[in-house]
Amino acid sequence: MPTESTFLFAGLLFLAAALGYVFARFGDSDEVEEAEQSARTKFLRGFRYLLNEESDRAVDVFTGAGDLSDDAMETQLALGILFRRRGEVDRAIRLHEDLVGRASSTVAQREAASFALAEDYLSAGLFDRAEALLVQLRNSRGHGMAALARLLRICEVTSDWDRAVDLCAELNRVSPGQVSPSQLAHYYCELAEVARRDHLPGVAREMVNQAEASDPGKVRTALIRADLDTDSGHPAEASATLAQLGRAHPALLSEILPRILVLSRAAEGGSGVGQVVDQLAATPEGLRGIALGVIGDSRIEDPRAVRCLVQFLAGQPALGELLAAGEGESGQSPARVKALRPLLHKMLGAGARFQCKNCGYSSAVLHWQCPGCRSWDTVHPVNSSVLAGILS
Ligand SMILES: [Zn+2]
Repeated sequence: MPTESTFLFAGLLFLAAALGYVFARFGDSDEVEEAEQSARTKFLRGFRYLLNEESDRAVDVFTGAGDLSDDAMETQLALGILFRRRGEVDRAIRLHEDLVGRASSTVAQREAASFALAEDYLSAGLFDRAEALLVQLRNSRGHGMAALARLLRICEVTSDWDRAVDLCAELNRVSPGQVSPSQLAHYYCELAEVARRDHLPGVAREMVNQAEASDPGKVRTALIRADLDTDSGHPAEASATLAQLGRAHPALLSEILPRILVLSRAAEGGSGVGQVVDQLAATPEGLRGIALGVIGDSRIEDPRAVRCLVQFLAGQPALGELLAAGEGESGQSPARVKALRPLLHKMLGAGARFQCKNCGYSSAVLHWQCPGCRSWDTVHPVNSSVLAGILS
């Protein structure tokens, strides 16, 4: 965020540049005196308005300034950007629209102003207007790449995943490696999830295959594949995928466990899916992951999963004695754990369970794309919750 003095300085620059243009334009003509006086009066008034925080009046003066020199146009462009960064998007739009509409501007100047205006529209949430400008700029030498990148961002915000995939190809054609395989895989995963919701399993599987081909071994891809296997009545395949994920990523068991339990209920007395929980709980990391998953989801009543929670809490120095109090020597009291679950759930929810390593955004749920900085795959499990303080 620029400081107030920076902002005013930009206004001063604009004033100086505009005056310089006017003097250069009229300097040698007979009309010089009158034109100079008029320009001086106009721009000094605009500068005074900026100083007095009368921004609308200042914008009125600047946008009504007639033909501008190159420097003056650059300065008006920068002034609009500063307005946008101050959150005054309407004023930024007026300044940049004025530049785009000027007949005297060169192609490069008009493109620079169009891109700035598109950024203004994005800031204001006017995606259709921004898109119209960015589409015109996609072949620009100076702004083509940035325009494509902004179009990709619009696709993400509007969930236009098909177009996002196309834009990835276009970006990577213009500049190989511009879009990472991981990001492209997430777009395919989004398409797979949409197709699954629309009951189009064939399309969903094709999108999963594309995601796997783009970036092999993604957790998200495997989770969707397991969901599709579950939907289509292939519990053994789904179970194997989830078990493998749980072993490789025990910190993500809060995402994996509910899926395993759905399978377990469906396969009652059947294919040994229920054993997966016990197998995953065989390691300390797995036991902890399952326990935190049970604490995090108060709807989980599966006896195996709850037993894992009891076992885990009994092994915690801070909680073991509390659990054991009045319950004999075993310290493994399902009844007391059941009574404690609401409290543990609140404690777990009191702190962030996931955090973006890029911008620090914290949340209680896993995001594949950070809502803060919009990076992909940067949100990871953390132990910053209040509960983490009393668990070893
Ligand atoms: Zn972030």
